[in-house]
Amino acid sequence: MVEVQVLRPREVPLGGPRAMTVRRTLPSRERSFVGAWCFLDHYGPDDVAATGGMDVAPHPHCGLATVSWLFSGEVEHRDSLGTVATVRPGEVNLMTAGRGISHSEVSTPGTSVLHGAQLWVVLPTAAAGVEPRFEHHAPPVVEVAEGVRAQVFVGSLWGSQSPVSVETPLLGAEVVLAPGASVELSVPPGYEVGVLVDTGTATFAGCHLGAAELGVVAQAAPVLAAGPAGARVLVLGGEPFGEEVVMWWNFVGASHDDVAAAREAWEAEAGTDAGRFGSVDGYEGRTPRIPAPALPGVRLRPRGNRGAPHPPTTEAPAMS
Ligand code: MN
Repeated sequence: MVEVQVLRPREVPLGGPRAMTVRRTLPSRERSFVGAWCFLDHYGPDDVAATGGMDVAPHPHCGLATVSWLFSGEVEHRDSLGTVATVRPGEVNLMTAGRGISHSEVSTPGTSVLHGAQLWVVLPTAAAGVEPRFEHHAPPVVEVAEGVRAQVFVGSLWGSQSPVSVETPLLGAEVVLAPGASVELSVPPGYEVGVLVDTGTATFAGCHLGAAELGVVAQAAPVLAAGPAGARVLVLGGEPFGEEVVMWWNFVGASHDDVAAAREAWEAEAGTDAGRFGSVDGYEGRTPRIPAPALPGVRLRPRGNRGAPHPPTTEAPAMS
């Protein structure tokens, strides 16, 4: 019997006036990573007229890569490499921060409904200091079983391969299933696999998943099936991430000192154009950049891939 760990989201307000609230399933108390996926914020569908949409002023990252995936709406991305890109539904934008980058994210004036996922990937220590880069890819929609269509945006599955470059074996895909349709997730041996339900309900390795829940298995080739209303899900997988890292604010590092140095660099670079995190041109929000919060008074502790699966739950579907 395949064991499925079900992570239920917690609501996290992102801060600021009329701020968006997101549903966060990673990291959670029970689990830090699925493969090298280390952060999963799921949001919307939000009525932008009510929420104000997304307006994130320039802020830094290091030691991680960000993956933006939208179901509806558009977001303008600007970064310190000079990239100006529009994030659109069904197109992946991968920003590998490496040694350091800064960027802003603003929903476009034409966006009325914003709905998507913001994902982070932890970089292994050997690649944490790579030069920053930005990649975009619009994966084709492929029919992988009767009533099942997929877009593979990171890695390879069902013969569909994304060209974006990642530092550990990793998989990301959007899968849309018609009511009652099912498919085997034939991922490489040794991959952990997570399924995040966006719309509808699903059964994953025999375990019911409701809206916004993330089910994770440590065994390859689980079967994913849609509930009676169909389902749209994100499939996230990869080789288990074996290192311990410190995650704090927008930084990932091997130690407290790595993160403290990144924070100090960002604060010291305020008002300058050069430096480790560079600067973002053309952002027109209320504040020019987001200052780093104060470090806690204790040393930041590393997190590893803690969390153990629990037996599958097979109770009747519940709203969540
Ligand atoms: Mn960011």
